[in-house]
Parts: sequence; C-alpha cells; structure tokens
Amino acid sequence: MSDQIQPVRGMNDVLPAEIGAWQSIESAAREVLGAYGFQEIRVPLVERTELFKRAIGEYTDVVEKEMYTFVDQGGENLTLRPEGTAGVMRALISNGMLRGQRHKLWCAGAMFRHERPQKGRYRQFHQVSVEAVGFNGPDVDVELIALAARLWRRLGITRVRLEINSLGTPESRRAYREKLVEYLQAHYEQLDEDSRRRLQGNPLRVLDSKNPEMRALIEAAPVLTDHLDPQSQAHLQALCAGLEALGIPFRINPRLVRGLDYYSRTVFEWITDALGTQDAVCSGGRYDGLIGQLGGEATPGIGFAMGIERLVALMNLEGTSAPLPSADVYIVVNGERATAFGLELAERLRDALPGRRFELNLGGGNFKAQFRRADRSGAALALILGDDELARGVAALKPLRREAGQSESPLPDLAAAIETALAAAAEQT
Ligand code: ATP
Ligand code: MG
Repeated sequence: MSDQIQPVRGMNDVLPAEIGAWQSIESAAREVLGAYGFQEIRVPLVERTELFKRAIGEYTDVVEKEMYTFVDQGGENLTLRPEGTAGVMRALISNGMLRGQRHKLWCAGAMFRHERPQKGRYRQFHQVSVEAVGFNGPDVDVELIALAARLWRRLGITRVRLEINSLGTPESRRAYREKLVEYLQAHYEQLDEDSRRRLQGNPLRVLDSKNPEMRALIEAAPVLTDHLDPQSQAHLQALCAGLEALGIPFRINPRLVRGLDYYSRTVFEWITDALGTQDAVCSGGRYDGLIGQLGGEATPGIGFAMGIERLVALMNLEGTSAPLPSADVYIVVNGERATAFGLELAERLRDALPGRRFELNLGGGNFKAQFRRADRSGAALALILGDDELARGVAALKPLRREAGQSESPLPDLAAAIETALAAAAEQT
C-alpha cells in the first residue's frame, strides 16, 4: 500500500500489549501522590508561545529549537506544551489561586519537543509532573524526593540513583557566572557553535551541553557549588540531612544543571544506568522565581517531572511490567439458545461482580476456535454454556491456566462459583 498515511516521526502509538506498564505507572502515581496530599490539575496542551519563552528561557534547547510553535487562524502565536510546570503556574495565576495559598498539584499528559528521535527521546512523550507551590523548603524538597523514591519501590524499579545539586540564588549565580564566563572565554577556541551562542545569552547553559567533545572542558570548569551563598548552602545541607535521615541514598553532582532556566537552589535528577544515553527518568528542582517572572505574586515552588516512556522501558527491562490480560473469565457459548442467552448472562455477571472482567465470545465459532480465543484473552477461567447446560439450568467452569477438571454450577450460584474458582486460580500462580 503505497498511499498509506505514515505516523508522525517521533510520535508513538502505545499498543494494548504495552499498556499494562503504562497503567501501573499511572495508577501507582495517582495513589502515591494522593497519599502525600497532592491533587490533580488538568491544563491545556496549548499555551501562548510567550509563556514558555518567559518561563523556560530564551537560551534553552527547548525554546531555541524544540518547540512546536504555530500561528492559529486568529493570528495568535501558540505552542504545544514542551513541559508541564509553566502551564500549571499560568493556571494558578489566571485562576487567582496564589495570594499566600499553598498548592500541592500533579498533572499528567503528553508533551511535545522537536528533538532528534532516538530510543528514549521522542517528539511526543508523556510526563507526570508534580508541583508544590508556596513552600520554602527544605522540608518539602526532602518530601518530594521521598515521594519519588516510594513510587520506584511500588513499581519494582531498582536501577535508579539520585543526584542532587544547588544552583544557589540568582545573586550567587551572578558571581559564579562571571568566573565561568572568564573561564569559557579563555577557552573560546574549544567551544562549539551552540556553546558560543550560549556564552553570550546564558553562559550557565554551556554546562548542560550534550556534546561529548565539550565534556572535558566542562569537567574542568569552575564549580557552582563552590560559590553558593550561605543560605543556599544551608538549604542544601538540610536537604542532605533530611535524605540521610530517611535513608535515601544520593550523590551531590556539582555539575548538575537543568535544561530549563527557571530553577534556583535545589535541583535533582533520578538517573538509570540501564537505558543508555537517555538516562534521566525523573528531573526536577526548585523554581522560586518562576511565578513572579510570569507576572504572579512572588511565590516559591518546587517540582519534578518523570518521563513515562523511560519508566516503562525501565520496567520492561527489570521485568516488573506484567502484561495486562483482557479478561478474567471468557464465556464460551454453543448452540442457538445458549448463544442468545450468553449476552444476558454476561450482563448479569458484570452486574454481580463489578470488579471482574468478562469477555463473551462474539461472532460464533466452534469450540476449538472459542477456546483459542479464550486462551489469547489471558482469562484464568472459561465459562462454558451450551444448549445442554442451559436446559439443565447450569454452566460449566474450566480453569485455563492450570491442570484441573471442569466443574458445574447452577446458574443462580454462578457468581459465587466464579469467585471461588478465580481465587483458587490466583492462589496457584
Ligand atoms: P534530557 O536531559 O534527557 O533531555 P530534560 O532535562 O530535557 O531531559 P526535563 O525537561 O526535565 O528533561 O523532563 C523531565 C523528564 O522527562 C526527563 O527526565 C525525561 O525522563 C523525560 N523526557 C524529557 N524529554 C523527553 C523526550 N524528548 N522523550 C522522552 N522523554 C523525555
Ligand atoms: Mg532535553
């Protein structure tokens, strides 16, 4: 078929075979976030371009070259969101939710960045982002990290480690910036094109270069942590002490800067050694200046975002993502009356056992074909209803995943018999 419509490069379908891991991450995140008192917020996928320029910063990769920006029919300059924090902060401002109030929020969904697609790096990807607004920390900094650590435990993810750093205040950063510019200018010949441009606009961004040829130069650069103001220093120490008290291992990485400009003081990243170059699965930090920068009442904030695609990949690698069977019970029907009654019986069973998944054989087929479908559905149990059983007012139950005989149950007792049989099947696995 030469005229098939092709998918957009870097934008993926998530097929039913992979959805199990997605759903377990989403439901674990929902539960764990709820347990820490966070509430969900949903904001538009599209915002004014100006929002991201102001929030993320003009000299970041994201704003310089990765945004999906367009002018709509009404002449407005709009952008598909490349990250979640800016939109959530905009929503707090637009809805008058600041004024000394505190908010613990999370937001999940698709993000868009025009990057070079590769394993773990896509043009549409998904994040769960978590924001705590109105808290100065460092207690909330510790708690947010503990929350993430709990989520990894819940998901059976072990191959991650935590790196933290402090970016100090804008003032202490300015002093450091001078030292850095001096150093970079002395090595101007070794800078790549991107870094030379950043040296003009935002020299700290040079430290975030992904170009391997720049690595040695960056390694030898002056270190931000050596120029921290006393308050930021104390904040970082308190964060370290809090993490130690909770038994959360971490490493201070003095070269950790983030890809977005709005961070100050605490930044952190959960890194894995299992996914190659795309090694960050969860990144975040404190953005005390952001809300003010967007025109809201100055309010401190801290947050992080986890990349769902990378977490799914990690769970697949660690073998903790079980594929989700589509049914608990597959209903096999045989004969004209039984086939007609099957629809009604399935409805009754769904009423009686709301948490259970019943898949009724649709579209006919002989026993062999129906059992093949039953097997593929992943169901633990087949319910067999033929004209003969129907005439006697019973149905047969047959475990599909273990050696065990078939049993019969009168139709009025069927729901209870199914529960018993499913419990027995679950015990065996
Ligand atoms: P990276 O250094 O990998 O480019 P980043 O610093 O741009 O990441 P953030 O903007 O902080 O990352 O996004 C938070 C998380 O979202 C990352 O840790 C990563 O797991 C995920 N992520 C970021 N960009 C992509 C992408 N293009 N495709 C898939 N996941 C991504
Ligand atoms: Mg990036």
